[in-house]
Amino acid sequence: MQYDPTNIFAKILRGEIPCHKIYEDEHTLAFMDVMPQVEGHCLVIPKKPSRGLLDADPAVLAHLMTTVQTVATAAKKAFNADGIQIRQYNEEAGGQTVFHLHVHILPMKSGVPMKPHSGKMADHEALAQHASMILDEMK
Ligand code: 5GP
Repeated sequence: MQYDPTNIFAKILRGEIPCHKIYEDEHTLAFMDVMPQVEGHCLVIPKKPSRGLLDADPAVLAHLMTTVQTVATAAKKAFNADGIQIRQYNEEAGGQTVFHLHVHILPMKSGVPMKPHSGKMADHEALAQHASMILDEMK
C-alpha cells in the first residue's frame, strides 16, 4: 500500500493541525497522544514518510529509536513510572489506525492497568502540562 500524505500525522508535521509537542529535531517529532491510554502516553514519528516499520528507511529507524529512548527515559522520570511499554502497529490487521510510522511510549505504574481507547480527546490543558513535564526531564 502507498503512503497517503493526507493522514493526520502528516498534517501535524506540515503544521496544518496542532499537537502538544514535546521534542523535535531534524529527523523526528515527539508529541502527546490526544487519546492517552495511560498518563503520559506519547508518540514519536519520523519526519520522512512511511506507512509503518516495514516500508521505512532503516537509517530513519535509527533516528526514531534514539528519540524514543530519550523521550521514554524522560517520560519515566516525569510520571514516576515503574516501567515503560513501547508499542508499534503495522497495517489495519496489525492494529494500526494512523498510517504514518509511529511509536507509542506508555509510562506504566505497577498495578495500574492500561485504559482501552476511549475515543475521546483528553483535556488539552492536561496534555500541554504533560508535554512540558516530559520536556523538563530532557533538559
Ligand atoms: P495506532 O493504532 O495507529 O498505533 O495509533 C494511533 C494513535 O494516534 C492513537 O493512540 C490515537 O489516540 C492517536 N491519535 C489519533 N489522532 C490523533 C491526533 O489528531 N493527534 C494526536 N496527537 N494523536 C492522535
